[in-house]
Order: sequence, then C-alpha cells, then structure tokens
Amino acid sequence: MRYVEASDLKDLVLLGGGHSHVGVLRRIGARPLPGVRLTVICRDVRTAYSGMLPGLIAGHYAFDDAHIALEPLCRFAGARLYCDEAIALDLAERKVVCQSGPPIRYDLLSINIGSTPGTSAVPGADGSVVPVKPIQKFIARWEALCQRVLSRESPMRIGVVGAGAGGVEILLAVQFGLGKLLAAQGRSADHLHYYLFTNTGRILPTYNERTRRIFERILAQRRVRVVTGQAVVEVADGRLRCADGGEYALDEILWATAASAAGWLARSGLAVDEKGFVEVSDTLQSISHSNVFAVGDIASLVDHPRPKSGVFAVRQSKALERNLRRALAGRTLAPFRPQRHSLSLISTGDRYAIAARNGWALEGRLLWRWKDWIDRRFIRTFSELPNSPARSG
Ligand SMILES: Cc1cc2nc3c(=O)[nH]c(=O)nc-3n(C[C@H](O)[C@H](O)[C@H](O)COP(=O)(O)OP(=O)(O)OC[C@H]3O[C@@H](n4cnc5c(N)ncnc54)[C@H](O)[C@@H]3O)c2cc1C
Repeated sequence: MRYVEASDLKDLVLLGGGHSHVGVLRRIGARPLPGVRLTVICRDVRTAYSGMLPGLIAGHYAFDDAHIALEPLCRFAGARLYCDEAIALDLAERKVVCQSGPPIRYDLLSINIGSTPGTSAVPGADGSVVPVKPIQKFIARWEALCQRVLSRESPMRIGVVGAGAGGVEILLAVQFGLGKLLAAQGRSADHLHYYLFTNTGRILPTYNERTRRIFERILAQRRVRVVTGQAVVEVADGRLRCADGGEYALDEILWATAASAAGWLARSGLAVDEKGFVEVSDTLQSISHSNVFAVGDIASLVDHPRPKSGVFAVRQSKALERNLRRALAGRTLAPFRPQRHSLSLISTGDRYAIAARNGWALEGRLLWRWKDWIDRRFIRTFSELPNSPARSG
C-alpha cells in the first residue's frame, strides 16, 4: 500500500458555491477525483437557488427549501470547505487571497462567484438602495422591510429599479408577500404603492412581444406604476431622480439592474471584458490564464455571448467537471457549446407563471406548478445525497 503525501496531491480550488460548482461537487461525489485535494471557498455556507428566491419572498418556500447546504455537499465530494470571501488572486504564485483566512494555493482554480446588480454608477445608490444580490444580504433586508411594513399604518412607497425578469419577478413577489403578511393580521395592503423603473422603452427588453404584453397587463392589474425610458441618475434622502428630472419619494428602493462583476478580478490581472467579467474560451478556461476556469454569471464566453442566467450556469456544470478532470489528467479539453435559447419560467407572486421562449409565451397556474416541481427536484439533487461519500487523495 502506498500512502499519498499531501505534496503529491494536485490542488483543485472551487471559488464560490454557485449553480455550476454545486453540480461539479455532486458529480465528483459520485465519481471521486484520485490524487486531488479539493477545496471550496465560499462566502456563504448556504447557496441560494435564485429560481426559488421570488417564491421565498412571496412566502411559498421556507429558507431551506430555496438553499443548498454546502457542508454536506462538500463532505460528499471529499472537499475541504472554507467559509471566506475571496478579495484578490495572486496569479503568479497561484493563490486565492481571502478576507479572513490565509491565502489558498491552487494548481487549478475555477471561479463561480456570480454577479451583483451595479449600484456604483448612480450617485447616492451605494449603501442606500437594496440590491437583490448578494441574495443573503437581500433576504436580511427583506425581513427588516417586513417588520417596517407590519409596524406602520401610513402610506409606503416601494420602488424596484430594473425591469428585466429578475426585477419584475421580485416586485410581484414582494407585493404578494407583503399583502399576505398584512392579510394575516386582518389588514389591507392598499396603503402600499409600487413603482417599477427602467431605462428601456419597455419592460423585459430581452423577451418577446407576447411576454412583455402579458407582464404589462399584470403590472397594470396590480396597480404598479411603471416608469419606462428613464435612467435613474441619483438617489438621495429617500428620493430617486430620473434622467428627465422626475423625482419620486420612496420608502424602500430595491435594485435589480444589469449584472456587474467583482472589481478584484480585473485588478488581479485576469483578462476581463469591458464590464469586468472573466473572459473564457469555449473550454471555460480564462483566455489569459489556462489554469483558471470561470463559469456562471462571472464568466464571459468570448465566442458565445449569452445573457446572465442561472440556467446557463447550471448547464455549464457538466462541461466544467469534465474539463477539470481532463486538465488534471493532462488531457485535451472539450469545447462547451451553450444552447442559443432557453425556456424561461417567470412567476408573478401568486402561484402563477409565464413560460417564454423565442417568439411565444404561455401563462397559467399549471405553469407555476411545473416550475415549482422543477425547482424542488433541482434542490433535492443536492439535499438527498447517496450514502457513500467520496474520498479525495
Ligand atoms: C430575483 C431574481 C430571480 C432570478 N430568477 C432566475 C431564474 O428563475 N432562472 C434563471 O436562470 N436565472 C434567474 N436569475 C439569475 C440568476 O440569479 C443568476 O444568473 C445566477 O444566480 C448565476 O449563478 P452563478 O452560479 O453564476 O452565481 P450565484 O448563484 O450568484 O452564486 C455565487 C456564489 O459565490 C459566492 N461568492 C460570491 N462572491 C464570493 C467571493 N468573493 N468569495 C467567495 N464566495 C463568493 C456566493 O456566496 C454564492 O455561493 C434570477 C436573478 C434574480 C435577481
């Protein structure tokens, strides 16, 4: 029998517990990686499944229903888990620099840290608005908002900035969730007023005409005031100012604008696109550092640009795991070919959903039940793990 020294092992580090990495861990648990020390660094030990976030806010799910616990998953995969936040990369020394713990060395690094809606371009927004990501912070602010609403009788105005699928879905979920909380106390929600702001001419700019019309109808029925074609240019003292000079007094401003990337990736010297996302080839490797992979929102596929979406992050998982295995074995990597289109299932808070793809859209309660089934099945893949945990090294 030959004992494996730690120095014989190759270090594979997964940075971030996003939608792709949880799938990689699940696969490595089922088929261990010999001769490899696997390490996961993640800010949160529970990884939020964004598809269920609106359902969590609307009150259809408990916290655990919509989160994947990383500890059992890492145990299953034979991985070490460091609960820490990466703040830089030392690409020459091949180390991840963390907020609290010592730097972590890697032979191969994969980055799946997601994105956040950018607030820094709008004066006054940083620190005063509530970005929908990171989701853990958003959930804490949501709980505080619920308490404020419950303890107040006077009118309240709630605005959401950003009318992509995330913004529209979260607004409708917030409206439903707060209405439900008030109804449980026998109170009406008529004193709550909702606003949706977008700098595009219509809501859901990347969706088809039929989907846009369905949501415009639903927002009108729910008495949401939609302000289109106006960039928000300033936030100050509970007021939001638009490019045309229009001002809106708001008690809570939720921020769901386009995704932005962590600035330290570019500062570390990785090749990034004009928005700061890590540029990767179709093997999912950084175009500047072949021992660094990136997937999910934080990656920018140079040959196949795609919108930022959890669906694409989930799909990259299998290709990433295959290429990490090949890279560790010194074999040729295989290209990842993303689908051009994907089906979107967007909920409206009240157990109702719209399915959209290419030029068509369908709506109904049955679609919500289908979405609910898909989402719960996805979470179960990670909560119901087989008994035999993998051993690394
Ligand atoms: C309200 C809302 C609803 C959405 N609904 C859908 C939907 O239904 N379908 C869909 O396809 N997309 C949806 N999206 C988009 C989706 O959220 C993102 O595309 C998806 O989360 C990206 O996944 P990811 O794996 O790249 O990263 P994430 O899921 O964001 O995971 C990032 C992980 O990295 C960790 N992390 C972050 N920074 C660091 C750091 N510096 N150091 C260590 N760890 C770090 C985090 O803790 C987290 O575990 C929605 C978005 C929003 C806002």
